[in-house]
Amino acid sequence: MSFTLKNTFSWSKSRHGKFVECRRLYWFHYYGSWGGWDPGKAPPIVRERYILKNLSSRQQWAGSVVHDFISEALKGIRRGTWTTLDEMMTRARHTMRCQFRDSRAGLYRRSPKRNPGLIEHELNLDIPDEEWRRNWENAAQCLRQFFEAGWPERARTLSRDDWLPVDAIDSFYLDGIKVFAAPDFALREDGKLVLVDWKTGQPREEDHEQVRGYALFAASRWSVPPENIVGRLVYLGAGKEIDVAVDEDALAEFRAHFRESVAAMNACLRDPESNKAHEDDFPMTEHTERCRLCAFGRLCGRASER
Ligand code: SF4
Repeated sequence: MSFTLKNTFSWSKSRHGKFVECRRLYWFHYYGSWGGWDPGKAPPIVRERYILKNLSSRQQWAGSVVHDFISEALKGIRRGTWTTLDEMMTRARHTMRCQFRDSRAGLYRRSPKRNPGLIEHELNLDIPDEEWRRNWENAAQCLRQFFEAGWPERARTLSRDDWLPVDAIDSFYLDGIKVFAAPDFALREDGKLVLVDWKTGQPREEDHEQVRGYALFAASRWSVPPENIVGRLVYLGAGKEIDVAVDEDALAEFRAHFRESVAAMNACLRDPESNKAHEDDFPMTEHTERCRLCAFGRLCGRASER
């Protein structure tokens, strides 16, 4: 029996970010690359868009390595095993070296999911070695901070009941729409449910919105009233932890933002019912400085203007 995946509309913070950044970029990511995971069946242009949408910048790459290693360490602690900072650093450095080498060799073209690819390599950008070293140093600093702030110890002393399970990709429904949102770590502390999000960049106001989305996820998943939820932004690179208030007003603000974002996305669709979109209805951004580091420049035609 064959099973065909349907491109149904869903929402996430990163989807909203792309929509705001450039409508054409958004179309490439969520419509034009649909089905591109199957090289045997996808038309070459769809496969190409799929390969490009899976690329990341060097900063995003470092961030995902940090997230992966922390997630693995926490899972290990939950199983009763322990990783030292030295072990983690050694393995993270090795991983980044291998992934860098494979990306430079273009292995992401063969298997975009298995081999992380970098936009810098795809675009043949001349990035000085010093900058690549700095990128690793930022990742290393985040891993160090994870240990120095005592997170492994905090996790180790949590009882089973106080450690809430969070899947890598999780979702809940809002107004009947699937919303992808899952905190990196969730625990009970002093009678509150604490939703943790690791950040590798500098503190930004817009991150507060994200943890409010997590609060709705938590309320739906664990039936916790908002006043008992704390959103904690842990800026590993900057060594700061910020607790974000979650109350009914903040959640109402998030819902309004979500509805506005969904309405704007749906307004671009030829047929919102079936989630049908046409490239022509998704204009290219007027902020051309954004195009400099965009992997889709060759496909949308902006690369020739660089
Ligand atoms: S190159 Fe510029 S216009 Fe083209 S998809 Fe990327 S951001 Fe949009």
